[in-house]
Amino acid sequence: MRILVVNPGSTSFKYRLFSLDGEQVRLVARGGSERVTDYGAAIDRALGELAEGGHVRGAADLDGVGFKAVFGGDLSGCVLADENVEQALRATADLAPAHNPPYADALRVFRERHPGVPRVAVFETAFYQWVPDHARRYAVPDAWYRAGIRRHGFHGASHKFVAERSAELLGREDVAAVARRLYLDGPRRLSGAPLRIISCHLGGSSSVTAIRDGVAIGTSMGLSPQSGLPQSNRVGDLDSAAFPCAMRRLGLTMEQAENQLIRESGLLGLSGVNNDLRDIKSAADRGDARARLAIDVFVHSLRHWIGAFWFELGGCDALIFTAGIGENNPWLREAACAGLSDLGLRLDLEANAGAPPGTNLAASDSRIRVVVIPANEELVVARETARFLAARRSVA
Ligand code: ADP
Repeated sequence: MRILVVNPGSTSFKYRLFSLDGEQVRLVARGGSERVTDYGAAIDRALGELAEGGHVRGAADLDGVGFKAVFGGDLSGCVLADENVEQALRATADLAPAHNPPYADALRVFRERHPGVPRVAVFETAFYQWVPDHARRYAVPDAWYRAGIRRHGFHGASHKFVAERSAELLGREDVAAVARRLYLDGPRRLSGAPLRIISCHLGGSSSVTAIRDGVAIGTSMGLSPQSGLPQSNRVGDLDSAAFPCAMRRLGLTMEQAENQLIRESGLLGLSGVNNDLRDIKSAADRGDARARLAIDVFVHSLRHWIGAFWFELGGCDALIFTAGIGENNPWLREAACAGLSDLGLRLDLEANAGAPPGTNLAASDSRIRVVVIPANEELVVARETARFLAARRSVA
């Protein structure tokens, strides 16, 4: 099967073409454009490049297009991305204002231009469908819950890839098989000791997810991607009283307060530098106190969530780091793992500084392993799209 995975950002359009044969997946081509104002043109350009490269002659040669959709309210899992899905993305854009509008636009343009190519939305929330109620409910009036105020979880494709890959790396093929087929078959009870993974996706936005036997049982992201750890420029966890308090004390409208929490908070708001951890770290190393504080708050929050899930899982077999921050910053991994030797975790500082992804970065006497797994969300979306379409064909 030829599956195109597209990633429409607010100003960019990236794509990857995969060829899938059963469980074998091959990346055939990738590309994209920046400063996109017209999705139709961007999609045409992508298909033109794929035709020129001899990969697909035109849309008719594509078996499907996969979208890593962020949030669709009650819609989750893998679904055929028809007009109802476009509408759901628009209707719920208040909770994912940076993500949903470009996705809905790109879906519409694909539908209008190439109606014969099936579009599949693989929702980021899908990985959290088995999180128990006690870990997803907020203590709000029942009417709020019925209005959809609950923990949804995000970064599902990334954490699902970690669930699959960590099990493979740790020699638990039984767990890896469950994780790979999770969206089709659901969780399965396995014999043997449970595999307990704490997955830290640390990047432009960050979340920590607890995974038992390939299935998420809790996550730091809540109702919206403005929750959990401090994000690059979004707030992360916040006492609900802070919102009306800031409105009253600073004379802000609701829109202004919301805008500041979504665009001027997180690492940017704390540091006053910008939203890139590289620049914040350089400033901290030069003695900038606000930059240092931003890093300390981030690490504190990261350790808070790791600790919460360690307890919830009843232990931890491996701590996984993924995405831009998690993969590329040994100093941050060291800070996250500091002082945990009584809990059985000791980092090997040399390995942490230089060992390749996929290797164990923990010392030989450490019970808990520490591993970097490069993020590969597009692969998950391609696989899920192919599985969804194959299952649909076999039913038809
Ligand atoms: P996005 O969520 O936008 O895909 P990424 O996963 O690329 O973001 O993460 C962006 C963050 O990762 C930035 O804060 C940046 O500082 C950090 N980062 C990315 N690459 C590197 C690198 N090579 N070295 C250090 N930090 C990096």
